[in-house]
Amino acid sequence: MSEFVYLDNSATTKPSSSCIENVNKALCENWGNPSSLHVLGMNAEDAVNEVRKKAAKLLRCADNEIYFTSCGTESNNTAIFSAVFKGRKRGKRIVTTAVEHPSVLEPLKILESEGFEVIRLKPDSSGRIREEDIFAAVDKNTILVSIMLCNNETGAIMPVSAAKNAIKSVGAPALLHCDAVQAFGKMDIDVAKLGVDMLTFSGHKIHGPKGVGGLYIKKGTALRPYISGGGQEKNMRSGTESVPLIMGLGGAMDDLGNIAENLKRVKELNLKAREILKSTNLIEFNSDENSLPYILNISVPSYRSETLLHFLESKKIYVSSGSACAKGEGSYVLNEMGLDRKRVDSALRISFSRFNTQSDIEKLVDALIEAAAKIRKAN
Ligand code: PLP
Repeated sequence: MSEFVYLDNSATTKPSSSCIENVNKALCENWGNPSSLHVLGMNAEDAVNEVRKKAAKLLRCADNEIYFTSCGTESNNTAIFSAVFKGRKRGKRIVTTAVEHPSVLEPLKILESEGFEVIRLKPDSSGRIREEDIFAAVDKNTILVSIMLCNNETGAIMPVSAAKNAIKSVGAPALLHCDAVQAFGKMDIDVAKLGVDMLTFSGHKIHGPKGVGGLYIKKGTALRPYISGGGQEKNMRSGTESVPLIMGLGGAMDDLGNIAENLKRVKELNLKAREILKSTNLIEFNSDENSLPYILNISVPSYRSETLLHFLESKKIYVSSGSACAKGEGSYVLNEMGLDRKRVDSALRISFSRFNTQSDIEKLVDALIEAAAKIRKAN
């Protein structure tokens, strides 16, 4: 039995056993430079290409459409700046959502300050973007649409494929980028069905190492490289590939097991937690039931997020504060959903992994009920 309960898997995940084994193997044995022409280089290149194959299989694309980067943040920056540098003469509009991860929102702020028009779509109260809003926002002048697949605070699943239809329907020159960091390895992703030109994933959210990520780029997509240098990754991402981290990511992918079965199990845990918490009448749900079940965002009004987080921590249960914000303004995602101040200030993000058990959920709900009962008593 583990001595703590880890329910902060959207922040990061515990490296899987094959991940650790592969990182070690790369550092000890396969430490060549994949660009070297001798056998050590070729071994390293082969190892990297094996992982490329695994990523391609998960996304249902060709191996040569996968590019390794240093993280999800770099993949998002690459997708955005590469598409906009290349397409800048064809239009000025970029469409995104107000609830993207900062690694999408911040690069777009820079582009806005350079004269691009950035449209940020607001979610409904469930956290989802409305398809009709995407259609209304995409015009002939649009060069990029960037919409996440699954929101990192609420788990809301976004209608990404509607964006492709919107682009087609007006004949916009736009490329479609999707930040799939929270969805990769957790739900079925078919890049062709989604209609995306670029898709971001990251290693450490799927029990892989930190410091490695990837970008799917549809064959034939015209982009200007964001990081230039020695021409690695077919000139799209210069810099010697991190063979240990890429091999670690490959190990994590090997350990994923059956994604649909994992999803079903995690959904059962999520529903169980919801069912018990609902009965207290003191807890509000900020993630709706159609969200990806790996994330459950709740509020325990009357508690500040940080207070409850530390209360849970005292019981060795680790979750995330749903309202972490440098200025104390609360979560911009929950604010954009129109939730009231009290609810935003008391939000908690519980995020599961396939390793969580029924007993973890019982400990969590017992602790939350204890906290909620304290409020009831005080009132
Ligand atoms: N996009 C989303 C939705 C995320 O949740 C995160 C990390 O939390 C990132 C991007 C950034 O990924 P990385 O930590 O690999 O830079």
